[in-house]
Amino acid sequence: MNLVLFGPPGAGKGTQAQRVCARYRLKHLSTGDAIRSAIREETKIGRLVAELVEHGELVPDDMVTGIVEEFVARNRSQTDSFLFDGYPRTLPQIEQLDSLLEAHRLTPAVVVSLEVPDDDLVRRVTGRRICSECRRVFNIHALDRQAIASCEICHGSPPLIQRKDDTVETLSERLRIYHAQTEPVLHQYEMAGKLATIDGTGDPDEVFERLCGILSEQY
Ligand SMILES: [Zn+2]
Repeated sequence: MNLVLFGPPGAGKGTQAQRVCARYRLKHLSTGDAIRSAIREETKIGRLVAELVEHGELVPDDMVTGIVEEFVARNRSQTDSFLFDGYPRTLPQIEQLDSLLEAHRLTPAVVVSLEVPDDDLVRRVTGRRICSECRRVFNIHALDRQAIASCEICHGSPPLIQRKDDTVETLSERLRIYHAQTEPVLHQYEMAGKLATIDGTGDPDEVFERLCGILSEQY
């Protein structure tokens, strides 16, 4: 099975991706990670991308797809199942993914979008606190009032801290970019009858069960 997973920042896509990869034995392709590692390893495309990034220029679709393809080619002998995370991000990339899958004799991708209302995301992200000792993540909206200031698990109740990025302003900007970038892509998949959406609100275990429900319908 090949899966394309969409989800706005703060929706818990990373957690769901990890779990779905474990259950269905998918190889997780995080496009951001793949681009960074191509740059680090100085692959042919990596060098070209590094130059563009250095000049603050956008990486063209062909190059992003090239990096995705490098990843698929490198792992293809071990697996025929990938999870595409952060790709496709533009309309041309949709077609490029289809061709890439075909070229590597892989099955067409199942496309799933985790849907969480923006208000919910704001609540989740701005309520997020991290223990300064154990790095466990808490949400103050889910905690008792007395427990808000400190970690209840660590000895000595170390303080909970908020990450600099977990503010309404940062999140709003990331959501704006996500919607602007992703909506045309989702729309295209929807028009092709390929898009499955799931309710991404509530408990992560429940979200995971919904996701598995969709995937088991496909296979
Ligand atoms: Zn702790």
